[in-house]
Amino acid sequence: MSFTLALVGRPNVGKSTLFNRLVGKRLALVDDQPGVTRDLREGEAKLGDLRFTVLDTAGLENVTDDSLQGRMRRLTERAVEMVDVCLFIIDARVGITPADEIFADILRRRAKHVILAANKAEGNAGEGGFLEAYSLGIGEPIRLSAEHGEGIDELYHMLRPLA
Ligand code: GDP
Ligand code: MG
Repeated sequence: MSFTLALVGRPNVGKSTLFNRLVGKRLALVDDQPGVTRDLREGEAKLGDLRFTVLDTAGLENVTDDSLQGRMRRLTERAVEMVDVCLFIIDARVGITPADEIFADILRRRAKHVILAANKAEGNAGEGGFLEAYSLGIGEPIRLSAEHGEGIDELYHMLRPLA
């Protein structure tokens, strides 16, 4: 049995970079549910010996700041309901923002299982943001670099029990 993972977080934290790393070119056939295909990109992820479905909540990339909050909430709530586990990504170099707090709140209330990742933490970068992530109340963050492939092994170990 496999599982579905949603990549959740505000724009620009590195969701799509991680999606591309996990999926490569193995984009799944798109679903025909209206709305879902527009806002959620789905792929078949490969991570070591794990195979699972991954959703990139990509629909927020082209919205204006005005509509961001409402759409962000709706999209996140829908994604959370669809999946077994959420990977909540923050930008370790920026630290925790008000938008991150909104996501954290939704995830704490609705998600079955959440893994927290402080991305852009390659080398020694983003240590401050990584430490701030503890304050979200989602547990221990992992240091990740979607771009450079660091922390991917730790992600593997977090996901392994779900497979
Ligand atoms: P999304 O909006 O959450 O999907 O974020 P993207 O994946 O589009 O990434 C936003 C920006 O952050 C891009 O310029 C990426 O190259 C950059 N980025 C993503 N992951 C990393 C990382 O691990 N380290 C660094 N330094 N930059 C990253
Ligand atoms: Mg994206």
